[in-house]
Amino acid sequence: MNRYQMILPGDNVLIGVSGGKDSYVLLRILAEVHSTSKIVGLMIEEGIHEYNRADVFAFLKKVCNEIGVDCLITSIKKELGYSVDDFISLQIEKYGTLKISACTYCGIARRRILNAYARMLGADKVATGHNLDDEVQTYLINILRGDIMRLVQLHPLSMTHSKLLVKRVKPLRTIYEYETSFLAYIENFRFQETECPYILERPTLRSRIREMIKELERSYPDIQIRFLRYIDNILEPFVKSSNENFVNLPLCSQCGEPTAPGRSICKFCELVNSIVLNK
Ligand SMILES: [Zn+2]
Repeated sequence: MNRYQMILPGDNVLIGVSGGKDSYVLLRILAEVHSTSKIVGLMIEEGIHEYNRADVFAFLKKVCNEIGVDCLITSIKKELGYSVDDFISLQIEKYGTLKISACTYCGIARRRILNAYARMLGADKVATGHNLDDEVQTYLINILRGDIMRLVQLHPLSMTHSKLLVKRVKPLRTIYEYETSFLAYIENFRFQETECPYILERPTLRSRIREMIKELERSYPDIQIRFLRYIDNILEPFVKSSNENFVNLPLCSQCGEPTAPGRSICKFCELVNSIVLNK
């Protein structure tokens, strides 16, 4: 067995189906190699103007029906009270400017909803369609920020430090983005034509790193996979030590969900407080 094997034969798996090509590829491949009765797809509408993907979700629902996988659809607003658009407009109303990016809120909200559904459904793993390019960017971002804890959490062997958190796995993390694109293309997946408007409004560190890596990859075609394996190897002793010294994460005093050590309020509640309450 590959020591980085992420999904075991008996695992119940919740797939975060984003509407993009990667999670589509993950859904198709997992349905081929895993029992379809043990897979559920979850689509989450972000609530972003000019980014209505009802047609993509309808297509993906049809795909799920064809391959015999249950699928659910919900929205950030329905689950957490504020859509991504709400978060941005309330922030601008309060501060007159954008202090926190839409991507930050969207990412944290999506992870929270996926975890809540996984817990509710009794899933063993939450699988997302992040590919090699995504994973290299995330490693680099956290190296640049000096965030060793986040780096350890990203490692495939890391365990969650709370019974309330379902282990997240990224089965496509060693697959190049061009490969998932190619598979989606030959499977006639309908590519999303519109890009999220918030990505264009504020270039994030991630988008700048993505451009830099693309440029480097032209001259050094295997740097991404070599970088990933190198960082995975370097991190392994830290991951083992972290797993052996299990520390139950504290719970947020506001919502009761797990939060990082030393924090009394979780990042999600902090974001909501920043736009809603006079704090
Ligand atoms: Zn909270």
